[in-house]
Amino acid sequence: MVAPGLRLGAERLFEMPAVLERLSRSNSTSQAFAEVLRLPKQQLRKLLYPLHEVERFLAPDRRQDLHLRIFDPSPEDIARADKVFTATEGNRIDYVSSAVRIDHAPDLFRPEVCFIGRSNVGKSSLIKALFSLAPEVEVRVSKKPGHTKKMNFFKVGKHFTVVDMPGYGYRAPEDFVDMVETYLKERRNLKRTFLLVDSVVGIQKTDNIAIEMCEEFALPYVIVLTKIDKSSKGHLLKQVLQIQKFVNTKTQGCFPQLFPVSAVTFSGIHLLRCFIASVTGNLD
Ligand code: GDP
Repeated sequence: MVAPGLRLGAERLFEMPAVLERLSRSNSTSQAFAEVLRLPKQQLRKLLYPLHEVERFLAPDRRQDLHLRIFDPSPEDIARADKVFTATEGNRIDYVSSAVRIDHAPDLFRPEVCFIGRSNVGKSSLIKALFSLAPEVEVRVSKKPGHTKKMNFFKVGKHFTVVDMPGYGYRAPEDFVDMVETYLKERRNLKRTFLLVDSVVGIQKTDNIAIEMCEEFALPYVIVLTKIDKSSKGHLLKQVLQIQKFVNTKTQGCFPQLFPVSAVTFSGIHLLRCFIASVTGNLD
């Protein structure tokens, strides 16, 4: 992270148009992100900090229920994280391999993050969105019934590995016990598990199995709310508050801040990239 004195969180960013101007001209900011910074203020806030957008519709006494500012990176940090996710000659971002068993998983010594969620929760769309700055990366999906589901490994330069876990639902719990559970229990370099929940329907029974597993293994995990473009503001706010309450009262290992995202509008994607870069030690 940048030095605290230079740090500008979401709040100050929007009070200081000069910061946006300076950042969008800075050499350390990619062209794509410089364009993002030129968006009108409200659109920019919605894209970078979707939870802050939701907060605006809450009564002031309910705002403390939402943990918005535990991870509140500056736009400089967000720009740096986007660079980590940008494929270049010196920063190769590639699919590495697939595995059905943990002992077939690549022996990687980099920090690792994994994505788990019910089939259809929007996992492959989210991973594709995270990798949009590396258009060569092919996010493989095997959805045909009867096909063995695999764990897919992607390396992001020398920085970290992203693992796309099989979606639970079809053939669960066999897939889950054989692969997901063993992986979560044994993978030593796993730094953070991202548990995807569909923001339209909220936490479902099968999501609870995954949550219980993360809790049982004392894993640090994060709830990502997918498809936020599909709901009205009111519905989204209701879901966010319900899930936040669940996290506050029923979990130990879950990061207290929720990460709402849309793979369609890209809302929350830059922030999630920044969080991944941070938990894998790439913003230090
Ligand atoms: P997976 O089974 O978890 O990998 O889910 P997919 O990524 O294949 O998505 C399942 C369905 O949800 C597909 O029809 C996607 O187009 C749709 N979807 C995924 N993410 C989003 C999103 O952010 N917004 C909207 N509106 N649809 C989405």
